[in-house]
Amino acid sequence: MKIGFGYDSHRLVTGRKLILGGKEIPFEKGLLGHSDADCLIHAVCDAVLGAIGAGDIGRQFPDGDPAYRGISSLLLLERVGKLAAAAGYSVGNVDCTVVLEKPKLAPHVGEMAANMAKVLGISAARVSVKAKTNEGMGLVGAGEGAAAFAVAIVEGGETP
Ligand code: MG
Repeated sequence: MKIGFGYDSHRLVTGRKLILGGKEIPFEKGLLGHSDADCLIHAVCDAVLGAIGAGDIGRQFPDGDPAYRGISSLLLLERVGKLAAAAGYSVGNVDCTVVLEKPKLAPHVGEMAANMAKVLGISAARVSVKAKTNEGMGLVGAGEGAAAFAVAIVEGGETP
């Protein structure tokens, strides 16, 4: 087994959809980024990529590449899962936390987990999504953006 960790953050701005865990969440602002800016999925991608020793999402999907402009991050996670499978790994489980002051995400975490499990080809019970606020502290607490943390376990692969 190997473990990987991922972190990401994106700024909240007007004129963008708020998409987290592959779910569009009704809100007056959305996350700014080259793709759909789904920082939760980006953190999960980095956790899986870290576990398989394949760098990070910026290396796999450069944000200067027009192919990834506006792309659903679920598609990126699906590709990450395929990279892991191609290297002989299966994803054991993923645990992640998204930090956002508003809106409340708790009603959506089940669907987020199901979305990510589906593209990874694993059972929803293997993906845990937690949502927190930053208790009003710092830039995330002030509503300037969202942050996310993730860990993933993978099994298999080459044993050197
Ligand atoms: Mg990102």
